[in-house]
This record gives sequence, C-alpha cells and structure tokens, in this order.
Amino acid sequence: RPRVLSGIQPTADSFHFGNYLGALRQWVDLQEEYEPFFFIADLHAITVEQDPKVLRERTLRAAAQLIAMGIDPARSSIFIQSQVPEHAQLGWVLQCLTGFGEARRMTQFKDKSAKGGEGAASVGLFTYPILQAADILLYRPHYVPVGEDQRQHLELTRDLAHRFNTRYKKTFRLPEPYILKATAKITDLQDPTAKMSKSASSPSGIVEMLDDPNVSAKKIRSAVTDSEAVVRFDPENKPGVSNLLTIYSALSGRTVADLEEEYAGRGYGDLKKELAEVVVEFVTPFRERTLELLDDQAYLTEVLRQGAERAGAVAEATLRDVYQRVGFVAVA
Ligand code: ATP
Ligand code: MG
Repeated sequence: RPRVLSGIQPTADSFHFGNYLGALRQWVDLQEEYEPFFFIADLHAITVEQDPKVLRERTLRAAAQLIAMGIDPARSSIFIQSQVPEHAQLGWVLQCLTGFGEARRMTQFKDKSAKGGEGAASVGLFTYPILQAADILLYRPHYVPVGEDQRQHLELTRDLAHRFNTRYKKTFRLPEPYILKATAKITDLQDPTAKMSKSASSPSGIVEMLDDPNVSAKKIRSAVTDSEAVVRFDPENKPGVSNLLTIYSALSGRTVADLEEEYAGRGYGDLKKELAEVVVEFVTPFRERTLELLDDQAYLTEVLRQGAERAGAVAEATLRDVYQRVGFVAVA
C-alpha cells in the first residue's frame, strides 16, 4: 500500500481546531487506503524552550488525542519522533545538502523568530524544515497531509529529495502535500487574518479540542466578526465570519452555501450560538475519550512502542541506503 506520513508538535496541552480541520482529520481519512505513519514531533518542539516535565506530559497527551480522534493503532503506526534516531541522522545529511540561503527563505522561521528577534532564536528553529524533510523522506510516502503553512516546507523536501537523487542515486520518492483547500488555514478567532496557532494565538483566539466545552462555546460566541451583519462567505473582506462558516461547514458536513442560505436575514448572534452548539457536541465525546486514554498509560506506551518499532524498521532501511550512497563505511 502507498504510504502517508505526517507529524504534529507536542507544544500545547491540547490540539486546536486548526490542527484538527487542517490536518488531523485527513490523517484519519487517509488511514483507510494508505499505510500510515504518524508521529509526535518532540525533536521539533525543543526548537523553542520547553519544560522537560511538561514536554513529556504533552507528548503522551498528543498520543491520546490522536487515538481519541480516530487514528487506529492497529492500522497506523503512531510514534514519538525521538524514539526513531534515524530522523536526526538523516536530518544531518540533508543539512549538508541545503544551501544557507535556501534555508533562509523559509517563512516560518521569519514568523516564529519575529517576536524575540533572530539573534535569540535557536539554530534548531532555523534548520527545522530540513529535519522535517528527513522526517518525511525516510518513509518514502506518497502523501503528506498538512495545513497550508507547511506547503513551503514540502517544496523544500521535494527539492532536497531531488537533489539527493541526482547527486547520488535515486533513493527518495518526491512526496505530494495533501492540503484540503477549504480548511487549509483556520484563523484566530480574535485576529481572523492570522492563523490559529498553538504557540502564537491568544487563549481567546484559539479553540482547543480539550478545553472545557463551555469555554469553547464562549470563545465562539465572542469571535471577532465585522459590522456588516450579513452572513456571507468572503475571506477577503469578512475573514471572521468566513472562518466561522468554514468551521461550521467542516464540522456539520453542510456546504457553506447551504449555511449562508440558512442564516440569510439573521444576525451573527444566531450563527455563533448555533455553531457553538455544534462545537460542544463535537468536542464533548472527544474530550471524554482522551481523558480515558490518559488514564491508561500502559496502553498508550505500548501503542507508541509498537509504532516506533514499525517506523524504526522502515527508517533504518532507508538510512542504510543513504549512508552507503553518501560514502560512509558500513559497520563491519
Ligand atoms: P506551533 O504554533 O507550535 O507551530 P501549530 O498550531 O502550528 O503549533 P503544528 O504542530 O506546527 O501546530 O502543526 C500540526 C499540523 O497542523 C500541521 O499540518 C499544520 O499545517 C496544521 N495546522 C496548524 N495550524 C493550522 C491552522 N490554523 N489551520 C490549518 N492547519 C493548521
Ligand atoms: Mg506550526
């Protein structure tokens, strides 16, 4: 079966609606037809400072959330990135193939280092797209389901794969991003032109999957809209309302046009109130299931052990090819 691969950082206690609608929901769908590898990107998380105890907790919470949202451990390999050392090893080889200027063009570094200034950012934050290329290429996947913010990194990944293949020998498959246009960029509820983000959004701008459902409902009801009072999908001029319609449509399975019609002549209050209800209905069972899973650490760690074992077998074989082609002497 062709493979899919993707990862998510354990940089918050909970995933948010951007993660879920932009990427994770596609993970669940794709596991039917593909051979899936999904990982928790703890190596990426430490590109910014993390409290060790919190990082460990969040990594397990991430695993519990993936299973609770429908990733089936029997079908999908779920693993922790740091448990498969080949990621860091291939990352180094690819760093040596990447131009400094090429790395510099990555806009996520510019965005993420903007706050503290470039001088305060870690070198790891600068090179993380290259590690991400290694994460992907090790598994030779056909598709990588991600949100729009990762498109540029997928381009870099393809460039590096192509470069390695031409400089040495065809080794890597050039993976395609799998980005669903409608939900590729869920925006911050309070700042609807910015992307909803674990590390950059204010608490009131982000709907967390594990928030108390009443808190999430309240955040939806206080989302920033505009003064026109017409429910119309127009991301350019009405980013706040359009974001609410996107979330509503994705959760309910109804088209945006259908929703526009239903709310024609009604105010934003109705739209928000009813979307809040849809959100509560969606997150309540998810939250219960996640909390249940977190009570069974033995099960979680066993799932992760098996995931790392399956991923490790694939990664080891790829890295062996790479080392041989680069000219490293194999262990006798
Ligand atoms: P951080 O702020 O720490 O980078 P994040 O919220 O961007 O966290 P990631 O773990 O970096 O989350 O990304 C996980 C997946 O979620 C990626 O595929 C990313 O493209 C997707 N994603 C993140 N935010 C959004 C969003 N607002 N809309 C759609 N997809 C998103
Ligand atoms: Mg991110």
